[in-house]
Amino acid sequence: MGKWWRYLSAAGKSQASRSVVASRLRAINFSQTLAMGRRGAELRRSGRDIISLGLGELDLEIPRAIREAAAAAALRGEGRSSLVQGIEALRTGICRKLARDNGLAYDLSEIIVASGTKQVIFNAMMATLDAGDEVLIPAPYWVSYPDIVRLAGGEPIAILCGPEVGHKLTAEHLEAAITPRTRWLFLNSPNNPTGSVYTRDELASLASVLRRHQHVMTLSDDIYELFVYTPAPFVSLASIAPDLKDRILVVNGFSKSFAMIGWRIGYGAGCAPLIEAMVRVQSQITSGTSTIVQAGAVAAIDASLNSVASFQSDYLKRRDRTAKLIDAIPGLIYVRPEGAFYFYPTCDAYIGRRTPEGRSIDSDNDLAEFLLETANVVTIPGSAFGLGPALRLSYTCPENRIEEAFCRIGDALSQLR
Ligand code: PLP
Repeated sequence: MGKWWRYLSAAGKSQASRSVVASRLRAINFSQTLAMGRRGAELRRSGRDIISLGLGELDLEIPRAIREAAAAAALRGEGRSSLVQGIEALRTGICRKLARDNGLAYDLSEIIVASGTKQVIFNAMMATLDAGDEVLIPAPYWVSYPDIVRLAGGEPIAILCGPEVGHKLTAEHLEAAITPRTRWLFLNSPNNPTGSVYTRDELASLASVLRRHQHVMTLSDDIYELFVYTPAPFVSLASIAPDLKDRILVVNGFSKSFAMIGWRIGYGAGCAPLIEAMVRVQSQITSGTSTIVQAGAVAAIDASLNSVASFQSDYLKRRDRTAKLIDAIPGLIYVRPEGAFYFYPTCDAYIGRRTPEGRSIDSDNDLAEFLLETANVVTIPGSAFGLGPALRLSYTCPENRIEEAFCRIGDALSQLR
């Protein structure tokens, strides 16, 4: 007892001036999309009529079959711990889904279920990155990618993909960015935040670069798979490059396709040694995902085919209506999104202008703040996604609210001089 006490008090003294927070966290931000969502919710609670174009959260109902399956599992008294990698029924279902929808053959040892797609990506980075390993991330990118890489000790390398390339990575840019330290390439199609969708040919040309660089793995984030508005159906990199299967980790989840974002469940499919390492990471963090939620996800695998068609046409309509509303506002220039549920207009025309009170708009952060204050509309500044000045505008709220939001945005922007 005495010895421990001496040890603890000595450590306490020498570290008295140390910050509570680890140095590892210095470069890590609170997710800016979540932060803006939180601000919007606070203002709404204070009585303001806030419209959020900020969140990537659907306004659809979770299909009834999914809710019933989870409720039945809870009522059966399920709730004992599950395998870390996920219950067998769900992993079998995921294999069935990947074969049915994507033409991909995986077995049970090649699947991991986690508490959200975000955790699948985190597991993968923790399992594979050594200090200084590089991860190529086409920008604009989903906000969390770079910080997940940093948390795992890696170095995110953004490859800028502006409007001139349709916000898509080209084979030339990929080739030029690969170094001996490159460990991963992240690909996300349909893309958050731009809605860009890679064609078969574009993926094939990226695959031919990847074939030449055997040390590079690819994380294919297919979470928006069901939100594609092109005549050609969604295709995953893994489906068109079966020879690269062992170097591709497919990640996907239930947050977008089934509006189950609060249920926290996602999955990964990759070669068995990678999955085994990711399971090891997860065994020391959250263990297996909630068994009740997994029971719901089993039902989602088979609910998919019936529920999808109606919301796809609804979202296509909203995409087209939103395009018209943005077109009516001068200075917001975008590449027409072909998937997901976001527009990503650049807003250079408004940077450098002044508000009626004389405040200068120096960045897209300032512009998003101005829109929140003046128009009561939540938007996300593009700099959070690595390519600005721009705004990410999601069209997940009901159509009448979308109309109202753009009316207010147009009015507010017209006040900037
Ligand atoms: N990947 C992308 C591209 C996303 O946009 C999101 C969520 O917005 C995720 C992954 C994380 O999804 P989940 O809710 O399954 O963690």
